[in-house]
Amino acid sequence: MKRTAIFPGSFDPFTRGHEDIVLRGIKMFDEIIICIGHNAAKSNRYFDVDMMVKKIEQTFSTHNNISVMVYNELTADLAKRLNANFLLRGLRNTTDFEYENSISQVNRHLYNDLETVFLITSPHLAPISSSIIRDVHRFGGDVSDLIPYKLP
Ligand code: ADP
Repeated sequence: MKRTAIFPGSFDPFTRGHEDIVLRGIKMFDEIIICIGHNAAKSNRYFDVDMMVKKIEQTFSTHNNISVMVYNELTADLAKRLNANFLLRGLRNTTDFEYENSISQVNRHLYNDLETVFLITSPHLAPISSSIIRDVHRFGGDVSDLIPYKLP
């Protein structure tokens, strides 16, 4: 059976921390689908979602088993629909753990065949978060070392 994992998140923006989780994850799975959770009607994203799809596609252009999509539904339903039995997430600290612990329990309650797989962050990438990048970018700071592509 093909081992497909979804990697859901806001990815506003996709960071070097996210890239690291995907590149380590693809050693365990046949396919990873990066799923950007986005509700066009209620969007308060900082980075445009279509631009982010393109940038993530460019980042993994040499991997034909890594793809990107946008979704607006329950993550458990999405996984079922995509025939994905694994949900990939990254863990940086205990705050991430507290949050991820409950979500993974709920997701498994909603879809019993969905296993959440956690990868502990690589130490040099632990301080990187999308919210810090947004704050630095908003005030004109240089974020190029924190993301794996160039912003327009
Ligand atoms: P969400 O809004 O769902 O938390 P994010 O886009 O912020 O989505 O993050 C998606 C996933 O990536 C989460 O599991 C998060 O913990 C993980 N992640 C974020 N930054 C890092 C990092 N620097 N190293 C490892 N994992 C990370």
